[in-house]
This record gives sequence, structure tokens and C-alpha cells, in this order.
Amino acid sequence: MNECRKFRDVILTDYLDGELDKESRERLEAHLSVCTACRIFAREAKEQLGDSFKEVRPEPVPEELWRNIRGRIEAENRTRDIAGEILERVFKPFLRPQLVPAYIVFLVFFFSGAFVAHNRIKLVTEIEQGRYLMSTLGEEASAEGLENANLGTAIEEYFL
Ligand SMILES: [Zn+2]
Repeated sequence: MNECRKFRDVILTDYLDGELDKESRERLEAHLSVCTACRIFAREAKEQLGDSFKEVRPEPVPEELWRNIRGRIEAENRTRDIAGEILERVFKPFLRPQLVPAYIVFLVFFFSGAFVAHNRIKLVTEIEQGRYLMSTLGEEASAEGLENANLGTAIEEYFL
């Protein structure tokens, strides 16, 4: 009986997978030829497990699912179309070769303006930093004498 259990384990695994080596298969088949219970077990296992996969057929996709998928794709395309149309309508009048020189002039003005503004801000910041630095140096200069007073003048010349 214990032997039957071992054979049935083998039946459920390697035998059904077709991965049993020759010797084990012969031993199993010898047992099946004398043990009716295991023979029935093997046949049923084969029917239920082995053949169940062979009978799997591709399920037809429900029409409703297809409709939903198609609807979403179409809705997405519509959104994209609308966005494209708006972009085209807004920007197309400006996309003319005659306007290119005007754009270049505009860009030059824009960037030079930005550059000047940036430098002005940088200059102001540097002047303020210089003033602060000089105020601290100035205190030290008055305390420590000529050495630092020279340094203060050099910075002053640099910024003014
Ligand atoms: Zn048996």
C-alpha cells in the first residue's frame, strides 16, 4: 500500500510530464499491470490533469470588451486631433518664412535684454557684497592699521 502511494506521487509528477526515465517508467508500468487501483488512478490523473490542458481553447473575446477598447482608442485619437487642431490654428499664422527675420530680431532683443538684466542684478549683488566686505574690513583696518587699509582700497578700486 505504501508502495502504491509512492507510485501515485510519481504518476502525478514525472509520469504525466513525460519526464520519467526508462527504468522508473518500466517499474511503474509493471506495478500498474498488477495493481488495478493504481491503473485507474493513473488513467484518471491522465484524463484530468494531462488532457485538461489539451482541451484549452482560446476563449473568444467578448464583443463588449472589443467595443470598450475601440471606444477608448477612438476617444484618445479625438483628443489628440483636437489638441493638434488648436495648436495648428494658433501657431500656423506665425509659421511663415517672411516672419523669420522678425523672430530673429525679437530673440536677439529678448536675450540681450535678459543678459543685461542678469548682469545688472549680478553687479548690484556684487556691489552690496563689496560694501559689506569693506565695512567689515574697514573695522579691522581701523583696528589693525595700514596693511588692511590698502586691501580695502584695492577692493574699492575694483568695484568702482
Ligand atoms: Zn498500486
